[in-house]
Amino acid sequence: MSLSTLSSRPLAILSALVDEQRSLLGLLQQPERIEHAGRTFWRGRLDGVAVLLTVSGIGKVAAASTATLLIERLGAAAIVFTGVAGGLAPGVNVGDVVVAEDFLQHDMDASPLFPRYEVPGSGRSRFACDEALGASLARAAQDALAQHWPQARVHRGLVVSGDRFVCGAGESLQLQQRLREAGHAPLAVEMEGAAVAQVCADHGLPFAAMRTISDRADDDAHQDFSSFVQTVASVYAQHILRGLLSQPRPGVRSA
Ligand code: SAH
Repeated sequence: MSLSTLSSRPLAILSALVDEQRSLLGLLQQPERIEHAGRTFWRGRLDGVAVLLTVSGIGKVAAASTATLLIERLGAAAIVFTGVAGGLAPGVNVGDVVVAEDFLQHDMDASPLFPRYEVPGSGRSRFACDEALGASLARAAQDALAQHWPQARVHRGLVVSGDRFVCGAGESLQLQQRLREAGHAPLAVEMEGAAVAQVCADHGLPFAAMRTISDRADDDAHQDFSSFVQTVASVYAQHILRGLLSQPRPGVRSA
């Protein structure tokens, strides 16, 4: 059974940067371009599966706004995020892939009114990804890496997001220490995922995310960023997403 047999509604593949999306866009069949709210949405088919491709732009608000449009206006059945992130935990190296189990906003702080990191009104600080869709994405990542980049590893766990490009060894350590004190052990940091996870939770929509580690969130984080995204992360995304699309889609309910 392929993904296309389970739902007529499209699977949305969301990226933060144009370069992250490029290799997937090149494969889109029957592409239809939709302009809305300053964004370009592409509707079409990837390997026969109905998809929506779009770029959110950088940061939590841009990501939340785009995710809402994908769900409310374009009828996405599920959202998969593909992008890059800074590695935080030891052993999460440049060229590895992190498939998120859950997300937290590391810059959310309404203390002392609410515990640090808790999203006011939600009663929680961590938003889980869809288990089945996440497992499928992790399997696709394992397969792609084993076949094409055997030295790279797939990690699964917590990813944290905030409106800040973390690019200093001291800042990275401080971020991890504060999170650890609150009982959180993040694998990687980026700028969009937690916002999409929260929007998907609001709408009861399955969400999963993969991030290729582009840097270690340290003093060298900004170097060769663009060329890494174009030559490595975008190619990973193509292989991994095509692997996902060739699997059954247990995380996505029929329309
Ligand atoms: N140089 C880019 C800007 C990239 S901002 C440009 O000119 O457009 C960083 C993007 O990569 C965000 O989408 C974020 O999610 C991710 N990212 C990668 N490494 C990161 C880090 N160390 N800290 C925060 N976000 C990171």
